[in-house]
Amino acid sequence: MGKTDGFLLYQRKSDTVRDIRERIRDREEIHVPLPASERRKQAARCMNCGVPFCQSAIVLNRMTTGCPLHNVIPEWNDAIYRGNDAHALSRLLRMNPFPEFTGRVCPALCELACINGIDSDPVTIQNNEFYLIEYGFSHGLMKPRIPAVRSGKKAAVVGSGPSGLAAADRLNRRGHSVTVFERDREAGGLLMFGIPNMKLDKQVVLRRRHLMEEEGVVFKTGVEVGKDIFLEQLREEYDAVILACGAKQARTPKIEGMENCDAVVYAVRFLSDFLEGAEPAKGKDVVILGGGDTGNDCLASSIRQGASSVTQIEMMKKPPLERQPDNPWPQWPKVLKTDYGQMEAIEVFGRDPCLFEKTITRLIMEEGELKAAEIADVSFENGSLVISEHRDTIPCSLLIIAAGFTGCETELPRSFGIECTERNTVATAPGKYQTNIDGVFTAGDMHRGQSLVVWAIREGMECAKEADQWLMGYTNLL
Ligand SMILES: Cc1cc2nc3c(=O)[nH]c(=O)nc-3n(C[C@H](O)[C@H](O)[C@H](O)COP(=O)(O)OP(=O)(O)OC[C@H]3O[C@@H](n4cnc5c(N)ncnc54)[C@H](O)[C@@H]3O)c2cc1C
Ligand code: SF4
Repeated sequence: MGKTDGFLLYQRKSDTVRDIRERIRDREEIHVPLPASERRKQAARCMNCGVPFCQSAIVLNRMTTGCPLHNVIPEWNDAIYRGNDAHALSRLLRMNPFPEFTGRVCPALCELACINGIDSDPVTIQNNEFYLIEYGFSHGLMKPRIPAVRSGKKAAVVGSGPSGLAAADRLNRRGHSVTVFERDREAGGLLMFGIPNMKLDKQVVLRRRHLMEEEGVVFKTGVEVGKDIFLEQLREEYDAVILACGAKQARTPKIEGMENCDAVVYAVRFLSDFLEGAEPAKGKDVVILGGGDTGNDCLASSIRQGASSVTQIEMMKKPPLERQPDNPWPQWPKVLKTDYGQMEAIEVFGRDPCLFEKTITRLIMEEGELKAAEIADVSFENGSLVISEHRDTIPCSLLIIAAGFTGCETELPRSFGIECTERNTVATAPGKYQTNIDGVFTAGDMHRGQSLVVWAIREGMECAKEADQWLMGYTNLL
């Protein structure tokens, strides 16, 4: 441990963000990293406590606290503090194959478990991770690691989101020949066609794809398994098949008048169209159904497109500003989060865009055009939703549905006799990744349900380990 009293000497300082008025005029990333000298102080705040909860991923009150990848955080914080960034990076990469993704978009479950957070501010773990991986790329340390020996085994990975990429990366490192099949025109899954550029620059995803290609992974994009090539063929041509197709089936709310209205769009479609240059929110009164992270991304994207107004409708109660006694450290804090899009909305429109404990009941059209949304108060009684009789209307000329997801597209697995769960995910034994068909595995949102990038990466890695065991009869993967 480098600086024993770092946490007493230095205050937490997060990476800065670009000025709101400047950043809403473009689609570039909003974070600006701190200089290396400040980064070392931030790393010195890690006190290498005897029991590092930050890397443990324990489940408390049905929420995970600590890093699902078991990143060896105190080790690399110490190395950053000592100025040994190359060593720190090698320790980071041991547990996390893609820190450039988690360093940008992870909700940092590790920081919630940092002991400094009991009576002060947690260490800037995520910013430190981001610093390290970008240091690695900019200093030529991220060289292709080509396996010295090939196993002679072939694996097909269907889907190139973070879970498919993690599985492909691990299997390739073991020497198996890996081909990734992706139906979109570019690899990355929701990293590429979901999460906005403001949070994750698409060049970062391409950079990783190119590195993996140099390492021997083959990407076949624009190929839909089940249409352009069949699972039966993959099973014949490859020794193992991993299904990592995500879970993007959107939840459909019951709103009167929605079926015949062409001014209604689902969040993932809206966000991916924006990445392709479309601006359907320009000049519109945008209403977003769903107060979560996806809704927030839609908010920020609408502002960049030049929306006339933005409103976010959320069914749940407004969370408290501070932790409550029944939710002590290190449980996930159930507190109000004002995300980057909401801050932008407050700055641009002068009001909080989020209306809590509300839902949309009806869309109001005039001369074939969407003009307003009828909203009502909601409450939960004995777990059941109660919608009040009283109605208000708000201006609405574009409705974006960001109301969650109902699971994966089950047609593909079912057509091959693969069992699915009632939650529309692919079924496996608990904690396992093999489906009911020998040699066919599954990982990521398709297995777990819509979740987080960090969980998708963990699932991909663990799935690769199980597939490696199946292929070789033993495994030495982590
Ligand atoms: C708008 C949005 C924002 C998000 N923001 C965050 C965030 O900030 N932080 C965070 O941690 N998580 C975030 N998430 C969640 C996160 O993106 C997902 O949990 C994660 O991407 C899941 O990874 P995956 O590999 O399982 O699936 P996906 O990323 O969905 O990738 C699945 C891939 O499989 C491909 N595919 C599907 N079927 C076929 C087929 N038949 N043939 C070939 N290819 C196929 C798809 O085209 C896709 O590319 C967000 C999700 C959304 C929707
Ligand atoms: S992957 Fe996420 S939880 Fe793990 S150390 Fe990085 S930011 Fe923290």
